[in-house]
Formats: sequence, structure tokens, C-alpha cells
Amino acid sequence: MPSTLRIVQADITTLKVDAIVNAANSSLLGGGGVDGAIHRAAGPELLQECRLLDGCKVGEAKLTSGYRLPAKFIVHTVGPVWHGGTHGEPELLASCYRNSLRVAAEHGAHTIAFPCISTGVYGYPVELAARVAVATVSSALPQFGAIREVIFCCFSAGDFAAYQRLVDAAPA
Ligand code: ADP
Repeated sequence: MPSTLRIVQADITTLKVDAIVNAANSSLLGGGGVDGAIHRAAGPELLQECRLLDGCKVGEAKLTSGYRLPAKFIVHTVGPVWHGGTHGEPELLASCYRNSLRVAAEHGAHTIAFPCISTGVYGYPVELAARVAVATVSSALPQFGAIREVIFCCFSAGDFAAYQRLVDAAPA
């Protein structure tokens, strides 16, 4: 694993990075899970800015300020709902990671943290999602030279272990 990728177990709202990624829903008007946690921690100004964005399609990404978060920016992306894996889910999930990196890089971010997009309410199996996350970020990073560090922020010990197994299994 290149030194620019890191796995941590944490609440993403506490991370002091340039950008954190939100696993939002297509309305961008808040929800449960990590989305709810980010809106609570960022404060009500975030919702005001989100209202101006006119939603977000699955696989795309839009950026806001981080408001009361330690992070400067929030990149809102909408992951695919898991329907068994044969409905374009891996491609859409990969788009979330690529477009989030692109939008963050366009705003000068050097460090970015991702939650395990789609693996909560949206039901994407974490082992499969982690594979897409690590492979997509690894292959896209060279295009975004300004991004020096990508953190995979796992909320649960189980998710952290899944990412760790993946990295341990990867050829050196
Ligand atoms: P989705 O709708 O994309 O599945 P969820 O928010 O339901 O989004 O879950 C995505 C991931 O975010 C899950 O792994 C969940 O455990 C994790 N998560 C929930 N709260 C936080 C948080 N505060 N920080 C980091 N990850 C979180």
C-alpha cells in the first residue's frame, strides 16, 4: 500500500484533514448514519449551503465548506444502494471515490478522509466495498498530485479489520 493511504478507526467528524467525504443521499438535505453525524457536528449553516446545491446524483460529488468541523471542506457523494452487485454498484461506488478526489483536488485539498461509503443503510458488503475503495483510490491518486494523504475512516472495529485484511493480503 502506498504511504499516502491510511486506515483509521474514528468518528470522521473529528479528523483534522482538508476534506472529509460525506456518504449523503441524493437530496443532500441530511439523513442518518455518517450524514447525520456530519450535519450535527458542522452545524445548521451546512444545511443552508446544501439547499443551494440542487441535490447530487449517485456516483457524483459536490463540495461545501466544513463550517464547525476541523475539516475545511465536506465532499458530499451519493453511493449506490446494494441490489446484489449486478446493477452497476461497483462502477458507481468507484465513481464516488474518483469524483470525490477530483472535487477535493480542484479546491486544493492535500488530505482527505473517506467513510465506508454505501456500507451502512445502503447495504453494500463491506469487504467488497473496501476492495473498490482501495483499488479506485490507488489507481486514481496519480492524477491528483496535490493530494498527499487519503484516510479510510472506519467507524467500527469490524470495518477496520476488513480494510486491514485487504491491505495485508495485497502483494507488497
Ligand atoms: P450509506 O447510506 O452510504 O450506507 P451510512 O451513513 O448508513 O451511509 O453508512 C456508511 C458508513 O459510515 C458505515 O460504515 C457507518 O458505520 C459509517 N459511519 C456512521 N457514522 C460515522 C461517523 N461518525 N464517522 C465515520 N463513519 C461513520
